[in-house]
Order: sequence, then C-alpha cells, then structure tokens
Amino acid sequence: MIWVQLVDYHVHTHLCGHAEGSIEKSVAHAKRKQLSEIGFAGHFPILHLPEDDDRVEEYAMSMEDIPSYLGTIMEVRLEHPEVCVRTGFEVDYVPGCEDRLKEELRQFPLDFVMGSVHFIDDWSFDDPRFKEEYERRSLDQVWTQYFELVWQAARSGLFDVMAHLDLIKKFNHYPRLDLRPIFEETARVLSVHDLVVEVNTAGLTVPAQEIYPSRPLLEACYCHDVPVTLGSDAHHPSEVGRNLRRAVKTVKEVGYDRLAVFQERQREFRFIGR
Ligand code: ZN
Ligand code: FE
Ligand code: FE
Ligand code: ZN
Repeated sequence: MIWVQLVDYHVHTHLCGHAEGSIEKSVAHAKRKQLSEIGFAGHFPILHLPEDDDRVEEYAMSMEDIPSYLGTIMEVRLEHPEVCVRTGFEVDYVPGCEDRLKEELRQFPLDFVMGSVHFIDDWSFDDPRFKEEYERRSLDQVWTQYFELVWQAARSGLFDVMAHLDLIKKFNHYPRLDLRPIFEETARVLSVHDLVVEVNTAGLTVPAQEIYPSRPLLEACYCHDVPVTLGSDAHHPSEVGRNLRRAVKTVKEVGYDRLAVFQERQREFRFIGR
C-alpha cells in the first residue's frame, strides 16, 4: 500500500469512566501504528442527566477532570513532536443544552469538537444494558427520531465533526422504512452547516459489523461534498488506529481523495491519493 498519512480523531482515555489507558500510552500506540495525527475526544461531561444518575460518571469525564485532561495532552504534545496531538471533546448533543454547551466549551483551547447523539430522550440507546428497549419501540420511529437529533445537532453550530453518524444501527435493529430520503437529508444538512463526517471503525467490532456510516450514507455525504475524517473510537490504547487502513480504502472507493484535520477549530486537508 502506498504511504498514507493516517489520522485518528476519536480516542478516549481513562478519564471517561468506561475507558482505559493514559494519554501517554495512546500516543505511544499511535506512533507504533505510524499515525501522523491523534485527536483526543474525551467524553465531555453530561449536562442533561441528574447528577445522581450513575451514567453521568460511567459515560463521561467530570468538569473537575478537564484541567488535567487538557494539561496532560499539552505535555504529551511537547514530548512527542513526531505525532500531531490534537485536543478535542466528544460532546453529547441533547436538545435544550445548546446554550450551556456553548458557554462551557468556549472556555477551553480546543482543536476540534465532535458531536454525538447517544440519547433519545433519556434512553442511551448504544448502551448494551438498555438494548431490550429496541424490542419495545417502533424501529421506524426510533430511526426517525435518531436522525432528527443528528440534524438538530448539525444545525446547532456547536460542532466541527459529527461522530458515528448511524450509531443507531449498533445492535442490528433496522427499520422497514426507506432510509434513502433520511440519508439524503442528513448529508444535505451536514453540507449546509459545513460539518465533517467521521468515518468510525468501531462499528466493525459491534454487532452491526460495519463502519459508521454505512456505505450508502457515506456516498450521500460524498455527493454533497461533506469532508471526512477518521476515528477508531479507541477505549483502550491498543485500539488506537484500529482498522483505519480499511477505512481509508472505503473512503477512497467512495471517491474521497483527502481527509479533514483540525487545528484550533480550523479545518485543513491531508491528501490520501485516489
Ligand atoms: Zn465511550
Ligand atoms: Fe460516541
Ligand atoms: Fe467515543
Ligand atoms: Zn464514539
């Protein structure tokens, strides 16, 4: 394979309750995998759940963790000039929290902000503990609600990138409805609001066994000139860079010849060839 600058913009650390490994170890693994950039996307504190909901700690960092998160990334960046180390957050989009999120996020010196939808109301639909809920609901309705939240997230102006665009497929519950108009609208909204889509390889290792987003959704993004970046969604240092060459192959097949990268919330591109 020809030399391609691989980037991984979706890496978690032990500061998120359910992930493991230090920032240092993740950067060491990125070097081993010959990545040119690694972007930390620690789960930003969850604002919409009551503080005594266990999921607040299980899913995300606390506000008190943030100075050490940012400080460590800064130190590691200076120690490892061979890899670009980028600072970001993966932020849950929940309607009604936009103003608070905007206020909170602007205090921090970030390279990128990645938006995610993990909640339909209070249902964290990608948590295996709550997957029976799919049996209780109409899948047509679940998928429609999910993508409406993605569109709202894209319109919020809070984010540079949208993560795992079709996360709702995680446990293989597919609707009957025709998804083409939904995919088309998703790509259109991302394009109008100048967002990048993350091609996330974690989908390969969950029941869906497919990259996020699916091929037809990625093709719709390409048709609407929505740029792509790559993420492994690593929850352990050994997962940094996982399956990214496969993701590059996919994006090239769809027609992309470049990846988006971020510095101080400005977008640039790295060519990957045709
Ligand atoms: Zn996570
Ligand atoms: Fe996520
Ligand atoms: Fe993540
Ligand atoms: Zn994720």
